[in-house]
Amino acid sequence: MSVHYPNTFTSFIPPVRTLMGPGPSDVSPTVLNALARPTLGHLDPLFIQLMDETKQLLQYAFQTNNNLTMPISAPGSAGMEACVVNLVEPGDVVIVCQNGVFGGRMKENVERCGGIAVDVTAPWGEPNTLASIEAALTQHPEAKFIGFVHAETSTGVRNDAQAICALAKQHDCMTIVDAVTSLGGIELKVDEWGIDAIYSGSQKCLSCVPGLSPVSFSDAAVAKIQGRKTQVQSWFLDMNLIVGYWGTGSGGGKRAYHHTAPVNSLYALHESLRLLHAEGLENAIERHAQMHNKLKQGLESIGLSLLVNEADRLPQLNTVIIPDGVDDAAVRSRLLNEFNLEIGAGLGALAGKVWRIGLMGYAASDKNIDFCIASLKKVLN
Ligand SMILES: *Cc1c(COP(=O)(O)O)cnc(C)c1O
Repeated sequence: MSVHYPNTFTSFIPPVRTLMGPGPSDVSPTVLNALARPTLGHLDPLFIQLMDETKQLLQYAFQTNNNLTMPISAPGSAGMEACVVNLVEPGDVVIVCQNGVFGGRMKENVERCGGIAVDVTAPWGEPNTLASIEAALTQHPEAKFIGFVHAETSTGVRNDAQAICALAKQHDCMTIVDAVTSLGGIELKVDEWGIDAIYSGSQKCLSCVPGLSPVSFSDAAVAKIQGRKTQVQSWFLDMNLIVGYWGTGSGGGKRAYHHTAPVNSLYALHESLRLLHAEGLENAIERHAQMHNKLKQGLESIGLSLLVNEADRLPQLNTVIIPDGVDDAAVRSRLLNEFNLEIGAGLGALAGKVWRIGLMGYAASDKNIDFCIASLKKVLN
């Protein structure tokens, strides 16, 4: 025998950490309780009721009446892939805005579908400008889509989703929007802004467990999917098949097996969306803004400052400049080991230059900020 296992294994009991990185964020105890409730069959009528309510709650969170609104049974990256594989056909030209990690992934998805990606880039830490997108549209009048990231978690920058969608409309383009970190944290109005396809994630500002990706498609996007000349290359993410399980209207139609839904995770998502609804979307957004101001003041009080220009900052993801001479990894590991506090490292061009402090959902609280500032102060001294 080449592998030796111990005779006994013990249950894994994680410590209670405070999660203030780029996600997953702290999950509320009521959401964790929901997760532990008895598993139902994935076609149980009571479970289907829960699915229908989850759809309604997602329509509220996204501010949309789109019938095709539901969670994909996989993380945010699968939501990205679901939007791209369903909409983009070989040869379609897609303008892909990139100002961080996630725009780059969208481009990769477009190309793997046989789409032709046109790059619009901005430096890391800055938003994509309307002028650069307009220039790409003028050069590529055949473009069918504009894809962009509303809240770029790798840099803490907000792209102006409303303005980009308005520009897309003027040029007859559909929009594919990454709202993984924006949903529930900043203003996002799918119908009013005319967004065609959008995806999010459960573990950022919704403060649910990781592993689910809410998506929503406009009627025009649904028509494009139904009118495809080629089959969607992914069986699992083909919306034409998934609707047979999730239904297309609220409560309507018979449900058929497509895949076994992650039943307990959906209890958790339902509970986290219920909490968002009970707080009220506008109140949640206001809370994120207030907590961001409090964090900023706290950081300034210990001599730290933020990377991104004030007008473009995300309240839920704060990129903090690491002072000269400070050991990035050592600080983060002391926070984790001595304080049970997780903050994020910089990625790509910003690796070693910034920390990323998340204030997402349940984690956007006075208590967390006081704890974070006090812990950082001790470690930096
Ligand atoms: C986290 C994140 C993703 C990917 O989500 P996963 O759940 O990790 O797959 C995509 N886009 C943005 C903007 C994100 O922050």
